[in-house]
Amino acid sequence: MVQRNPHIASLHGNYLFPEIEKRRKDFLQHTPHAKLISLGIGDTTEPLSYTAARAIEEKGKAMATCLGYSGYGPTQGLTALRHAISQRFYGNAISPDELFISDGAKCDIGRLQLLFGPEAVAAVQDPAYPVYVDSAVAIGQGGAWDEQQRGYRKIVYLPCTPENNFFPDLHQLAGYNIDLLYICSPNNPTGMVATSYQLEQLVAFARSKGSIIVFDAAYAPFIRDPSLPRSIYEIEGAREVAIEIGSFSKWGGFTGVRLGWSVVPEELCYSDGTPLQHDWQRLLATLFNGASILAQCAGLALLTEEGWRDIHLLTEHYLANAAVLRQAIASTGHSGYGGENIPYLWVPFAGLRSWEIFTRLLEEAHLLVTPGSGFGPTGEGFIRLSAFGEQGAIAEAATRLSNFLRNRLPEPSKLS
Ligand SMILES: *Cc1c(COP(=O)(O)O)cnc(C)c1O
Repeated sequence: MVQRNPHIASLHGNYLFPEIEKRRKDFLQHTPHAKLISLGIGDTTEPLSYTAARAIEEKGKAMATCLGYSGYGPTQGLTALRHAISQRFYGNAISPDELFISDGAKCDIGRLQLLFGPEAVAAVQDPAYPVYVDSAVAIGQGGAWDEQQRGYRKIVYLPCTPENNFFPDLHQLAGYNIDLLYICSPNNPTGMVATSYQLEQLVAFARSKGSIIVFDAAYAPFIRDPSLPRSIYEIEGAREVAIEIGSFSKWGGFTGVRLGWSVVPEELCYSDGTPLQHDWQRLLATLFNGASILAQCAGLALLTEEGWRDIHLLTEHYLANAAVLRQAIASTGHSGYGGENIPYLWVPFAGLRSWEIFTRLLEEAHLLVTPGSGFGPTGEGFIRLSAFGEQGAIAEAATRLSNFLRNRLPEPSKLS
């Protein structure tokens, strides 16, 4: 018999979203006529941009001809696409040679673990998108699960709370040797965006400690506030210490099409002087072989003027939804965070556990949300609301939510 991979075996519990799905099904079995509205999983709901759809159609048809057929493309991705990303996202400050096109950010983060191996020490924002911790654990960086701390012993959790404006307190890391620092901005799940000042502190920290920042910018095109940084490379000195991850999924409606990228700057090196780029190229050529040519053509179309107008409308739609939810919460006097430069809101419920709030919202308001505790120990007592949805459904959800907050959940101070 083959021994089970002990690192996979140490992954704790169910992955968050399958667990939510299971509870949804159980609920509907008991209450089959409930008109559930999901503010849960972060999946896009609006149709694909016509500009992107047309590009897929045209390339698909061309592929059925001798002249238009193409097989494997360049492992690093189409040159035209890398040029377009460099221009649209980095004002040409990142060379197309430093861009690696992928089949999505999640897949890239998973593969990235192979660059560092099981001995690396990872620090994550807490709460965080679950993939950073889970993929680190899968390669052996996690150590044992600690039931009391609700976390892995070898992962360094950086609490992000209203008190520190949801950005890690880097002084907390004074005694640690951190290899990898995962930072997501705009942040899923807290809905907050790191300021230039916060990122300057972060880059200075990484430079002084010799750490590498993995900066997840999957939501950058949702940023409306012009003073907020959209890329870690807007910060001086970041090129020597940061990898950036991009994705077409959320702002481009590409969750099903699959397209993303990573940036590995030329200057970024291991302690022995080897450029990370060298190993990343080697790895991707060995176990990836490039993103779908159809997805890349669609991505290229989205970055044209016409496509970018579609993207503006798409992101405006989701941000308008987020504003409706934000307003509904504010009208009750309850606190809530985010929902301005990313379509997520992060809502605290003092004295309740995340899964309790989840259950009450499901049973009493027929709303499906994501329990904050699924994003890390500090997420306990919060829920995440996703504003991906159809306008009418979001309006109805907002009404249910404000009724729930007003009627069903008296503030603890008003309880006798
Ligand atoms: C959804 C999401 C992604 C996107 O992953 P893909 O694999 O590109 O679909 C990446 N990072 C965060 C934080 C996300 O929420």
